[in-house]
Amino acid sequence: MGKLLIVGTVAFDEIETPFGKTDKILGGAATYIGLAASQFDVDSAIISIVGDDLPQEYLNLLTDRGIDISALEIVKGGKTFFWKGKYHNDLNSRDTLATELNTLEDFNPVVPEDYNDADVVMLGNLHPIVQMGVIKQMKKRPKLIILDTMNFWMDNALSDLMAVIKHIDVLTINDEEARQLTGEYSLVKAAQKIFTMGPKYVVIKKGEHGALLFNEDQVFFAPALPLEEVFDPTGAGDTFAGGFSGYLAASDDNSFENMKKAIIHGSNLASFSVEKFGTERMISLDRKEIRERLHQFKKLTQFDIELQ
Ligand code: AMP
Repeated sequence: MGKLLIVGTVAFDEIETPFGKTDKILGGAATYIGLAASQFDVDSAIISIVGDDLPQEYLNLLTDRGIDISALEIVKGGKTFFWKGKYHNDLNSRDTLATELNTLEDFNPVVPEDYNDADVVMLGNLHPIVQMGVIKQMKKRPKLIILDTMNFWMDNALSDLMAVIKHIDVLTINDEEARQLTGEYSLVKAAQKIFTMGPKYVVIKKGEHGALLFNEDQVFFAPALPLEEVFDPTGAGDTFAGGFSGYLAASDDNSFENMKKAIIHGSNLASFSVEKFGTERMISLDRKEIRERLHQFKKLTQFDIELQ
């Protein structure tokens, strides 16, 4: 079985969409990545930090899925990372109303011994210095290092972010963030500029409009499944990253052709994540439902055309 090491926030989220609001619920990049990746045959572990205000039942949701949380530090008397967001009516854009780093402010990640030889490292969204700290502790170069980030870190820690991006293989980022990082409006030009920063592969997520994979002069596009009900897009990008990295770790094949399949698996899982608030849908999800929806994906994207 492949080994997947995940880094990212485990958080309290407060979410408002046109369909309702939540109190503080379980969220965080590493949470969504871990839940999605656990749908594949991988050994996975999360590196993160929380306060002792995070209910034990939230942590149990991760361990019940077989995710190793021995490197998830719990700070006595500390407060867990908190994020509050409000979605616009089109659900494709949102405003961040609060980001409280709390325990994340001074976090020194420790890679567990069992995972310092992980095949795939998924550096989920959090401080780029923490992401770099994890890369430095790996005993041997992982077969694949994937990094996801967001505008918050571009605004607050750009030089640290640029330093870590140099060491990775795949950058996953959404369209607006790709434009912010590169200053290019065209996503093709943005991807080309990102290649010069280090990564050989760039995945640009476009929310309900799918995802693009770039490598040298090759491009692949996967649509998002048109859904009847979209309730809460929070975590869709991280679920995508979890499906992408989980599939690659399980299949031990990092070719462009296999990455195309990983993109489909990531998009497929993200299509479930948005159907309910927070992590609720990912927790109830089973492999039969996932397989059935993959058939729908195949139908959606297959066509025959006669070319002279
Ligand atoms: P996504 O919708 O996939 O972009 O990710 C949403 C998740 O990211 C939420 O569960 C938040 O807790 C988490 N999040 C929001 N802002 C940040 C940040 N600046 N760093 C790390 N994680 C964040």
